[in-house]
Amino acid sequence: MVFEFLKKGEEALIQEIDKTCKNKWKFSWLDQQVSVETVGVVKIGDSIGKINLSGKARCEWCNSLLSYSGKGLSTLKEHVKTETHVKNIKLRQSNYGLGSFAMASSAKKLFPIFAKPQLQKPSSVIEETTGNQDPSPSVSSEVLMPRIPYSDRVSTMEAMIVAYMAENSLPLTMAAGLVDFAKACSRDLQALSGVRLGKSSAAYKIKFGVAKTIKEALVEDLKSTPFSLNIDEATSTNNKKVLSILVSYTKETEVRIHHLASVELLRATSSNIYEAICCAFDRNELPWDNLVSVLSDSCAVMRGHISGVETRIRQEKAPHLLDVDGDSCHHMQIIAQSFCSPFERKLQCLFSDLYTDFKWCSEHKSSLKELCDILKVSFTVPQMYAGTRWLSRYDRALETVRMFDAYQLFYFFFS
Ligand SMILES: [Zn+2]
Repeated sequence: MVFEFLKKGEEALIQEIDKTCKNKWKFSWLDQQVSVETVGVVKIGDSIGKINLSGKARCEWCNSLLSYSGKGLSTLKEHVKTETHVKNIKLRQSNYGLGSFAMASSAKKLFPIFAKPQLQKPSSVIEETTGNQDPSPSVSSEVLMPRIPYSDRVSTMEAMIVAYMAENSLPLTMAAGLVDFAKACSRDLQALSGVRLGKSSAAYKIKFGVAKTIKEALVEDLKSTPFSLNIDEATSTNNKKVLSILVSYTKETEVRIHHLASVELLRATSSNIYEAICCAFDRNELPWDNLVSVLSDSCAVMRGHISGVETRIRQEKAPHLLDVDGDSCHHMQIIAQSFCSPFERKLQCLFSDLYTDFKWCSEHKSSLKELCDILKVSFTVPQMYAGTRWLSRYDRALETVRMFDAYQLFYFFFS
């Protein structure tokens, strides 16, 4: 037999069906709340409905027929408290299935992907579902919380994180780190809820909090360990000359490289750099005795024999300084340059010509790509080499050799 649930508005039909019953069906019964031990307050209408049989209602959760003809509402109330029904309530609460409480319109709001993933506040749920009646709130709060499937909650979190990254143009490489960070923060929710960080307070805390602490620990280490300096000057994004001083030392068999200071220089002369270094030492009260060596590039300002920065440090501050020579990359560059001098820069000219020929003309680029496809050579757009690094010239040379046949074919038509 097929049961058909009857809805409000079909009272006339129900009257006809129930005409032989002692107790007639009333839809107001469904709004009744029953307090059930161990699960809390349950609304009858969540599980029970009127069907098209005389004197019968049906519990959807237990798949059972209830005869209310004799005792009316009490039959329904008693059923809700039966062992089978209570078991089914608990099953629904602990399961991924959406409990009846989740069918409330306010609970549904939780499902859209950007809705807050937190569960509803118990108090608001009680107000909404229990009306003016007074069930014990402590129990009801347990029952009425919407249960959202775990997988949905995970997806929502992931969506929130990627949306935040997209909105703030964060690099995708940060995704994994951001998740770890959020997990670390959420370990202490109480503290997290108290965190208020604005732009200026963040800047203040970085400068006078975190940076200060790290610097103090570093200075502490440098006072007791031998260390080397690594100095270079560069031009910052706002076109200022900045001298960066790094220190490297070993601690617990681990080599550490840390930033000691960055100083703005008006002119990068050897005396300016020397004074900036002395100033950094004095400010942090670092002992010159612990300085082992100074690494820098091989320019005259840094390594000049008469008034280079390293020479002055050795003469005036640290006579025991090891001569570690300059930056090995610079040395290699100088060696490679003198080794290549018989070629009269022919290779460099070739590289820059190739670069210019294909950089600006998309037609040339696509023709060259076609030739590469025919020759089964992988195609790359010719790049420019960096002026002061031999390694980049080596890369360009390898690239040119790989595509040489294609170049020959391409330029054949011009000759
Ligand atoms: Zn039931």
